[in-house]
Amino acid sequence: MKKNDLLTLKIEGMGNEGEGIGKADGFPLFIKDALPGDVIRAKALKVKKTYGYGRLMEIVTASLDRTEPPCPVHRSCGGCQIQALSYEKQLEYKREKVQNQLIRLGGFSAPEVLPVLGMDEPFRYRNKAQFPFGRDREGRVVTGFYAGRTHHIVPNRDCLLGVAENQEILEILVDFMEQEGIAPYEEASGEGLVRHVLIRKGFATGELMVCLVLNGDVLPGAGELADRLFQIPGMTSFTLNVNTKNTNVILGDKLIPVRGQAYITDRIGDVQYRISPLSFYQVNPVQTKRLYETALSYAGLTGTEVVWDLYCGIGTISLFLAQKAGRVYGVEVVPQAVEDARENAALNGLSNVEFYLGKAEEVLPRQYEEKGIRADVIVVDPPRKGCGRACLDTMLSMAPERIVYVSCDSATMARDLKLLCEGGYELKKVQPVDMFPHTAGIETVCLLSNRKSKPDSYVDLSVNMEDYHRIKNEEK
Ligand code: SAH
Repeated sequence: MKKNDLLTLKIEGMGNEGEGIGKADGFPLFIKDALPGDVIRAKALKVKKTYGYGRLMEIVTASLDRTEPPCPVHRSCGGCQIQALSYEKQLEYKREKVQNQLIRLGGFSAPEVLPVLGMDEPFRYRNKAQFPFGRDREGRVVTGFYAGRTHHIVPNRDCLLGVAENQEILEILVDFMEQEGIAPYEEASGEGLVRHVLIRKGFATGELMVCLVLNGDVLPGAGELADRLFQIPGMTSFTLNVNTKNTNVILGDKLIPVRGQAYITDRIGDVQYRISPLSFYQVNPVQTKRLYETALSYAGLTGTEVVWDLYCGIGTISLFLAQKAGRVYGVEVVPQAVEDARENAALNGLSNVEFYLGKAEEVLPRQYEEKGIRADVIVVDPPRKGCGRACLDTMLSMAPERIVYVSCDSATMARDLKLLCEGGYELKKVQPVDMFPHTAGIETVCLLSNRKSKPDSYVDLSVNMEDYHRIKNEEK
């Protein structure tokens, strides 16, 4: 096969980014927007030694699992990858993806993965959106989302995964920039002022936050813009964020309040949270509740346990756990998030929680070596790259009865679980939760139990081995 070859293929599988996989004479091609069951015409784009990439040119026979995607830009926009796949099949695909990663990267032979917890209404679920600004060919200010793998903006002010208010806010911002002659930031030259807008909504409270990311620290007419934004019901916080670096990272470290509070408040279950623009907060509040409830049930708390919650963000899981634990310690690297977390503990009247600022892979080993800290349960919820090695090693040394691993990347999760299981843990439960419908992303909660401890409800392998030898002897 060579570049630009035209081929007819049957799509038989799905890749980790939601691409269809079909084979031409046994040679696998990954094709964006093609779905299992489709017969398609494809053009070979990039041909490597053992696999290649192709472009979907025409659907010859459509898969029975295809559905009419409601978003007009679902193909060009990089946000959704599998909107054209029926939601039911999306959930099946995600379950298989987690299972395959556990087998391929985790070395588990036949891991049992529970059916994915899906959404009843899988649109308008995101409480957060980050829109870049740029110009179209005619020089008009545009905003939308990046196309997959590029920084080309696909204009779209009403993403169907986001809240309806996004559109109104974006219209105000674009009109304001056009009227005041404020230029969008240009990556190539480093010129221009407005880079991105971060919009967040508290689903339980209705509070709205707008944080405008600038290549500078002054926005001419900021007061006028605030007047317009605060006409929208629920508007609670308008801030500026300064990011003058030539980087893909959206937010800088400096925050300038313009009007209202520098944060919004939201609730998940019975717990209230204050959220700053710089803090991480789960994007799908409906599913977050189910995720945290699963994590809490896996933690198996009775009211006395010492729990460590690593990568705790604004203390979301920590506070959920604190309602049922003896004492909870959270560790988080973003200073504003730790500030939020401490505020949140106070806001909810929870005094059995303490937060440490720093990297989990530094704080945990230091606390363990210097103070000999212990844990009955450790919960981790790391970013995509997974846990640091030093963090995992210390967890193994601390030997808690249970580890609850929450992950947004099943590949790094599988890698980390392998290490924990080689170090004495057993994988008990794997529950994927669909936090990101229509994308290839999947969140997973896993329960691991310590093979060496003997709580009633857990299988103890050493006892099983004794039984095994006894039975073997009796047989002789
Ligand atoms: N458990 C929280 C946050 C999970 S996201 C929730 O559910 O809301 C992962 C968090 O890890 C982010 O807040 C990020 O800032 C933080 N983080 C990233 N690298 C870290 C590290 N090395 N040590 C500690 N925290 C880290």
